[in-house]
Amino acid sequence: MGKKHFETEAIRTQSERSHFSEHSTPMYITSSFVFDDGEDMRASFAEEKEKNLYSRFSNPNTTEFVDKIVQMEGAEIGYAFATGMAAIFSTFGALLSSGDHVVSCRSVFGSTHTLFTKYLPKWNIETSYFKVDEVNKIESLIQSNTKILYAESPTNPAVDILDLELLGQIAKKYNLLLVIDNCFATPYLQKPIEFGADIVVHSATKLIDGQGRVLGGVAVGKSDLIREIYLFSRNTGPAMSPFNAWVLSKSLETLAVRVEKHCENALKVAKFLENHSNVNWVKYPFLKSHPQYEVAKKQMKLGGNIVAFEVIGGIEAGRKFLNTIKMCSLSANLGDTRTIVTHPASTTHSKLDEKDRLEVSITDGLVRISVGLEHIDDIINDLDQALKD
Ligand SMILES: *Cc1c(COP(=O)(O)O)cnc(C)c1O
Repeated sequence: MGKKHFETEAIRTQSERSHFSEHSTPMYITSSFVFDDGEDMRASFAEEKEKNLYSRFSNPNTTEFVDKIVQMEGAEIGYAFATGMAAIFSTFGALLSSGDHVVSCRSVFGSTHTLFTKYLPKWNIETSYFKVDEVNKIESLIQSNTKILYAESPTNPAVDILDLELLGQIAKKYNLLLVIDNCFATPYLQKPIEFGADIVVHSATKLIDGQGRVLGGVAVGKSDLIREIYLFSRNTGPAMSPFNAWVLSKSLETLAVRVEKHCENALKVAKFLENHSNVNWVKYPFLKSHPQYEVAKKQMKLGGNIVAFEVIGGIEAGRKFLNTIKMCSLSANLGDTRTIVTHPASTTHSKLDEKDRLEVSITDGLVRISVGLEHIDDIINDLDQALKD
């Protein structure tokens, strides 16, 4: 039997059964593993055998979770982390040296931006930014010491799309490592490795868990690079807990059906908002009006679950919207079964001045919706009542 389909791999990839012949994988809540004798222990530590030693290095639950993501992304190997940020930081920690340089899209997750501007400079690693609509400037930012080209697509919170094929070509031409945060798309919608990414990182906290329960992160990609990331991590300690890995491996069994439905609901929400008189504009990758609609169609299977729109009336109107919404949650998470709304200008990005907010496409009335799996009519009714004058 050859390679099976995405949904089947997500369900049928399983660590070896124990002598109890359980159907569902058990939780291996153990910090370490035992050896038969001195020779077994020596050979295991020498990596002559593939054997779990200690759960900071590997554990059957984390291995099962990672194996699934590796197959879904078309990667060679991977490693699982306590959080998405641990995956991103460890990728930089393992692959960058003092004096290296990074070129990144400016629209990156807030904590990733803080790594670039506050922490990496401590180790003499500088980052140059391009804006989402300035991909033609990327080549002019590349220096002789540039090592990594970094981006997310779709971006947070404005759901802009970057052309992964173009980024892959640039990375290849200049011999850079292309690192893509695929959190908003999931491997069900988009596989950056097909476009030339060397490493794909995820916050598993979002759509991969999909039910707002646990934190997690993962990095997958080429063997030699992931091996470096693995060694860095097994020594610095940001490993995923076996419990979280067990939860997340189960979550992956339903990723395809959940993401399909998330996207179906999100497209309906986007179309509803597009026709609403109190909405200035709507951005959703699979709406024809999206500035990178063609690119989104080329690299994504569906449009994702995040919809951004601009409520008429600026900051005040955004605040009023949050105060009037009833069912949808006000929360910092996304990719949950529950629909979540945020107004970045008055909350997460309120400390930035207007000019800095606009650098990352956050206008005063921008509302971000992470469309959930409630009945579509209930989601739309809630948005509609919150948008009334
Ligand atoms: C949430 C998020 C992260 C960080 O993940 P954590 O699991 O919260 O550490 C990184 N990138 C993107 C795009 C995210 O949405």
